[in-house]
Amino acid sequence: MMTTLIHQSAAELLGLLNAGQATSAELTRAYLARIDAVDGKVRAFLRVDPSAALARAEEIDARRKSDKPLGRLAGLPVAVKDLLCTTGEPTTCASRMLENFRPPYDATVVQRLKAADAVLIGRTNMDEFAMGGSNENSAFFPTRNPWDTTRIPGGSSGGAAACVAARMAPLSVGSDTGGSIRCPAALCGVSGLKPTYGRVSRYGLVAFASSLDQIGPLAGSAEDCALLLEVLAGHDPKDSTSVDRPVPDYSRTVTEPLKNLRIGWVREHFGEGLDAEVEKAVREAIRGYQSQGATVKELSLPHGKYAVATYYIIAPCEASSNLARYDGVHFGHRTDEKAMVAELEAQRKDLHQRGDQKALDDLDNALIRMYRRSRAEGFGPEVKRRIMLGTYALSAGYYDAYYKKALQVRRLIRRDFDEAFKEVDLIVGPVTPSPAYKIGEKIGNPLEMYLYDLYTVSTNLAGIAGMSIPCGLSSTGLPIGLHLQAPPFEEDRLLRGAAMFQQATDWHTRQPEI
Ligand code: GLN
Repeated sequence: MMTTLIHQSAAELLGLLNAGQATSAELTRAYLARIDAVDGKVRAFLRVDPSAALARAEEIDARRKSDKPLGRLAGLPVAVKDLLCTTGEPTTCASRMLENFRPPYDATVVQRLKAADAVLIGRTNMDEFAMGGSNENSAFFPTRNPWDTTRIPGGSSGGAAACVAARMAPLSVGSDTGGSIRCPAALCGVSGLKPTYGRVSRYGLVAFASSLDQIGPLAGSAEDCALLLEVLAGHDPKDSTSVDRPVPDYSRTVTEPLKNLRIGWVREHFGEGLDAEVEKAVREAIRGYQSQGATVKELSLPHGKYAVATYYIIAPCEASSNLARYDGVHFGHRTDEKAMVAELEAQRKDLHQRGDQKALDDLDNALIRMYRRSRAEGFGPEVKRRIMLGTYALSAGYYDAYYKKALQVRRLIRRDFDEAFKEVDLIVGPVTPSPAYKIGEKIGNPLEMYLYDLYTVSTNLAGIAGMSIPCGLSSTGLPIGLHLQAPPFEEDRLLRGAAMFQQATDWHTRQPEI
């Protein structure tokens, strides 16, 4: 029973629950047993609270029994990335800085999941503050790719993708600032969607780069992503950037194929740096669409070549501002003040004895020192790097040359997409330049890691919708992702385009042996 249950799609599981053929408690137990069995190897979760999950499942089962109305995801386990505030539960962002943070409120998407009667099964690992593409930046431990545990699962929603790939949850929620849903979805062989900026409320999402961040679903198929997106999406007065537009019934329309589909592929995305096997799989996928009746057009996005540079100015600038609140007073880890004061006193005494008045005058006051020590201890190296990059790019004298210029280029990138979408319905290409690399392989070279985001960051800069779906396996058995991009608020088109591919292929049904 257990293996059969956990390998089913979320839609199938909902069917079983609604038909009374399975209970939420059975389902939750099956997933908890799976987590017990494989998460020691994958380490997708930062925290799982089995008794709370089971209690919740039983409560939903009881409500079902007494014929009370139930929510859209009633009884279905859902994993949540550890940057979504959940009342009273640690929300760490995989950072020492927030190790002890327990928010006093729920993020809107958490509230929506609870209202939909989902069973929140655990909190997934990520790169610290969502900064990274490999999960190696988690302050706690790296998540491993279920297809090959010596490799990265991608990031920053690495735990979110890995837990779906290893069937430890049927649905999971991630966030994407420059590729963080799509990159791990591609590398772990699952489906993941980054909605249009404004489609999903960011209220209660710990901010990385506020003009780029979006929350979205990861699941085993486009159909399951549709189901989860339907619950996550919608206007929220608590997030002024969330857009007041009706949410289509994604899960109803997802299986309707797109007629007269026009596909575009971007010339610049098939050049230098793209792994030959990834290129082959993506080209094969494009041919697949063609044989389903789509027309295919070659496109150019001329400003795409500036996307990585633009992103790595704008994202760190916003991060440096967003992360200023973690000072040990308003938020976050505070240094051991006794040790700090003792150190300060010892220094003062020493300087006094030596008669070094200048150094004494320059000595930090206790408050400044406390900020410094708290931030030095609380943030990991990549987060510090981004804060420094952003602070530098925003400083007087550099602002115009970097930040303002980046905003101008961002407009041009968006305009390229607007032009392209006059001619095609979906833009298709690779998600990542290669399949998953080895843990440790690139960590010493930040620039190389940044370049890995080459195909995904422009989606966020333009604020449009993007998705990754599995489209092949490398000769070494590693998943390859297909990138689909659609104009703003065309998630429905994206999901239908993805489902169309999944109706004709079985890549999304492949599961790692773990
Ligand atoms: N890999 C990108 C980065 O490091 C994207 C991260 C994200 O989308 N959160 O910033």
